[in-house]
Amino acid sequence: MSEIYPHCFEPLDLGFTTLANRFMMGSMHTGLEEADNGFARMATFYAERAAGGAGLIVTGGVSPNRDGMLGLGANERCFPDSHREHEMITDAVHAEGGRILLQLLHAGRYSKHDHPVGPSPIRSPINRHVPRALEASEIERTVEDFAASAVLARDAGYDGVEIMGSEGYLLSQFLCARTNHRDDGYGGDWARRKRLAVDVVRRVRAAVGDDWIIMFRLSVLDLVEGGMTAAQVVDLARSVQAAGATLLDSGIGWHEAQVPTIMGLVPHGAFAFATRRVRAAVDIPIAACNRVNDPATAESLIAGGDADLVSMARPWLADAAFAAKARDGRADRINTCIACNQACLDAIFVGEEATCLVNPRAGRETLFDESPASSPRRIAVVGAGPGGLACATTLAARGHAVELFEAGARIGGQFNLARVIPGKADYGETLRYFERRITELDTLRLRLGERAGFEPLARDYDAVVLATGVTPRWPDIPGIGHPMVMSYAELLSGRPAGGRVAVIGAGGIGFDVAEFLTAPRHDGHAVDGYLDEWRIDASPASAGGLADAVGDASDRTVYLLKRSADRFGRTLGKSTGWALRAALARRGVCMLSGVEYRRIDDDGIEIAMDGTTRRLAVDNVVVCAGQESLRDLYEPLYRSGVPTYLVGGAELAAELDARRAIEQGYTLGLRL
Ligand code: NAP
Ligand code: SF4
Repeated sequence: MSEIYPHCFEPLDLGFTTLANRFMMGSMHTGLEEADNGFARMATFYAERAAGGAGLIVTGGVSPNRDGMLGLGANERCFPDSHREHEMITDAVHAEGGRILLQLLHAGRYSKHDHPVGPSPIRSPINRHVPRALEASEIERTVEDFAASAVLARDAGYDGVEIMGSEGYLLSQFLCARTNHRDDGYGGDWARRKRLAVDVVRRVRAAVGDDWIIMFRLSVLDLVEGGMTAAQVVDLARSVQAAGATLLDSGIGWHEAQVPTIMGLVPHGAFAFATRRVRAAVDIPIAACNRVNDPATAESLIAGGDADLVSMARPWLADAAFAAKARDGRADRINTCIACNQACLDAIFVGEEATCLVNPRAGRETLFDESPASSPRRIAVVGAGPGGLACATTLAARGHAVELFEAGARIGGQFNLARVIPGKADYGETLRYFERRITELDTLRLRLGERAGFEPLARDYDAVVLATGVTPRWPDIPGIGHPMVMSYAELLSGRPAGGRVAVIGAGGIGFDVAEFLTAPRHDGHAVDGYLDEWRIDASPASAGGLADAVGDASDRTVYLLKRSADRFGRTLGKSTGWALRAALARRGVCMLSGVEYRRIDDDGIEIAMDGTTRRLAVDNVVVCAGQESLRDLYEPLYRSGVPTYLVGGAELAAELDARRAIEQGYTLGLRL
């Protein structure tokens, strides 16, 4: 047992079986489910996490029947058709000593195919299709489908199932008056609304016998109007326990909820109060979830009595050996999930496979070869931003002799700016990870505070990687040299701004700067500040856990400006942009598009819109007008004949993001 995290590494006795520890890898749809060779890839993906110490793994959701499939083209996920292929996964996980549950998920009105079903014909705000109300006989058949799928899962070697009863999927839809307007055996009052969820657990238990895990994912907080009250959540937990559930998992918020629940702005362990409420009322173990990304938070939740185990999903994408590192006293080597969603959720939303911004290998374990270099070389990497760090550490891990030059006083590049944005503090964990990684690699030498020059680079190395990054673009506006004007880099590095600020440029960084300028400072408990700002009611009084709206305009006047006329925030991530836009609008940030910048002077900034001139009286102008590549060394090095490569912003500043930079650095590190 770990001395540092004793509660996390205490085995969990479930009566007929024992889990090795309290770290669970929660369900994630990775896109591998529909990929060519997807089952073989999933087998390796899950097996690596089992080897990395996950005490229990839950697969992505699999529908028990065709009605419940999440979308078109997801036939493979209709479990009765594919259960034999699942044996590849269970065999691989068991070979590593792991345990794995299949998640059974009926999407109900969230199905994106043409004929979704639900309790009542009420359209979801996130689906254009109106669901067809299930007949009572179809509901009974759906219960049978859950039970039949569980039997198939047992046959395929799974250690149990997780029944998805949260996040607004079919069982949630039956539970809540918001979506269930029936007046029959499955709707009307609470006892009838909860019947389907309880029947599913009971029938699955009857079908699989007593010695198999049934975990029920319970929505401990719906975060939608007309959601369950805390009393109903507790009553449901007791009912599914009585029906045969072995474990409970927490779910937070329906997918249509207007509350961010997994973004970086959500404090670590913010929803422990809701899990704790249920734990006090049942005798079976319950998992806490959402925004737990480090073993210390997990330990405090379990030690403090909030939960019996902790479910993490994205942190297992970021580091397949999360629990093993915590167990072995190497938690400072964990590659931490920074809750950016860029390479996982946002990728899934556009039909790509999920991977991870800080770990591009995630989900592609069978595609990348990390074996040692056949002929180690001397390689210089210039620039220790995210791309340079990924490249240098990958090269050194493969045996190359690497010198990593960084002109600044510390590693991290643009991440040093990002980490001061509210909700992005975890970006600092990536730098901690790379700092530790550098100390582990014998063939990597970090040369901080050294600007690499052409001559030694051309003379002393077999290859050079330029990860020299970007410099902020400085637009040609009359008065741009006025002392009130600063770059976003100056602002985020500590230069103070006044009470009235105009932000030039409304890309990702313009939005981040507006957030930085207007976010409430939570001097007290960060969780309380978050709950207040997003009107979450932590008392058991409200339905769905939502409090009444409160006004929360910022004390600072901020104008977010752009020249183009299209929608604000178009380039922001799908899973995060909506919350950022909503927060800025609520705080009174004035967003102006179609702007022409005329001049900047002592009185502020003059702009023209639709042919009308307007003066914005501001104390400061912050320039967030994109970046330009820094790669002066490239041409001379290339001409000198030394093999030279560009990575990240040095290669292409437009739409630069850390995901591309790290992936380029990593894959180049594997190629050389
Ligand atoms: P960006 O997204 O390309 O936005 C640059 C902004 O500057 C645009 O709004 C553009 O708007 C304006 N602009 C460009 N040239 C200008 C000029 N000459 N004069 C005045 N305005 C000009 O770049 P960024 O905001 O620096 O972000 C860089 C990258 O970081 C992004 O690609 C993004 O992927 C990533 N990032 C994302 C997030 C996020 O998703 N939350 C946060 C931070 C960074 P107009 O042309 O309309 O004026
Ligand atoms: Fe976490 Fe971002 Fe990686 Fe997703 S892409 S797992 S949110 S670090």
